[in-house]
Amino acid sequence: MSDLSFKYICTECGLVFDIDGEIMLCPECAKKNQMERPLRGVLEVYIEGHLDRMPDDNRVLLPIEKQFYPDIPVGYTPLWRPERLRNEHGDIYLKDDTRNPTGSLKDRASWLVAAQAKKFGHKRIAVASTGNAASSMAGIGASAGLDITIFVPKSAPPAKLVQSLQYGARVIPVDGNYDMAFDISMEYVARTDSLSRNTAHNPMTIEGKKTAALEIFRDLGRVPDYVFVPVGDGVIISGVFKGFSDLVQLGLADGMPKIIGIQAEDSSAIYRSFKRNPKNPSVDDFRDPKATSTIADSICVDIPRNGYYALSLLRKHKGDMITVTDGEITKAQKSLSTISGLFSEPAGATSYAGFLKYEVPKDALSVILVTGNGLKDIDGARKGVIFPERAIKSVEEIL
Ligand SMILES: *Cc1c(COP(=O)(O)O)cnc(C)c1O
Repeated sequence: MSDLSFKYICTECGLVFDIDGEIMLCPECAKKNQMERPLRGVLEVYIEGHLDRMPDDNRVLLPIEKQFYPDIPVGYTPLWRPERLRNEHGDIYLKDDTRNPTGSLKDRASWLVAAQAKKFGHKRIAVASTGNAASSMAGIGASAGLDITIFVPKSAPPAKLVQSLQYGARVIPVDGNYDMAFDISMEYVARTDSLSRNTAHNPMTIEGKKTAALEIFRDLGRVPDYVFVPVGDGVIISGVFKGFSDLVQLGLADGMPKIIGIQAEDSSAIYRSFKRNPKNPSVDDFRDPKATSTIADSICVDIPRNGYYALSLLRKHKGDMITVTDGEITKAQKSLSTISGLFSEPAGATSYAGFLKYEVPKDALSVILVTGNGLKDIDGARKGVIFPERAIKSVEEIL
């Protein structure tokens, strides 16, 4: 039933490449790359062939053969109907990606990258991360027996670092922000024989994340009207676009959902470029006037590495972008926990904050993609609650 073949295609110039273990960016377009700029020459996986029906196994639609994936179960996370939220907000579903093995959606990418490493004989993987890509690659890499080196801002939430150390990764804190960690890790990859799991740089990071879209379609039995996605570097949203558009291309789905990207107000490069210059964003549109900061550390990025590709998909498929404040994120995180029972990290609740702010037509079916577990960032979560200070000695004190 499945007879698909896979190639890489450059998202800028359209050149086509065989998928091997070495090529990461289009060699021609990558010549335009500069430090501290979104990546040029990002490659997309292009599928050729035909499918009669939606397969049960995501791997049928992925470019690495089944036998190479590590055994740790990734994806197939619950898409569920939160009744109490639905009473207030209509036809919404939560796609709970906090339920991945390391607690975030990043596992979808790490799983495919681990399979890529196995297939092409790489033993070492390096990655820069605000925390989740690191702990994800560390955990999935542990199950695959790979050697993982991660570069993280020294300010990353301690839980994410401890998690990575538990999995046995080599953790290199960087005396700077995520963007500095990214540049250092790129240099490390260039000077060692490590496979890059850097987001957007390795095309498999985008391709792996598309599995969230495949599952939404499979579980609903249709394309939703809206999907809400938190955005930092713009890889998750690109993966979600890619997943639905693969389904359309293969004749399995009959149209695209409206995909809404949400950024934090003070870390909003893709949003600003999209609003300012949606047709033809220039490099300067991506520049933040001031240093980025948000409570949602996973989407705190100065330079959105996948900016060009994410914007081209937003344009092509008529997506939209909005921003939310840190206050709105903290409130959304708390109300999502309290009303649905899903405790997410701030970035993970950003999609819900965006849903609350966006004007969704009545009766539209919306999916809110919740991307990371609340326990990953206790300091962040603590901002939304009043912590009990006083301990009691007897029940009288509280009756
Ligand atoms: C990485 C991450 C995001 C943002 O994904 P990008 O691909 O950087 O846009 C959102 N939420 C969580 C929990 C993440 O770890």
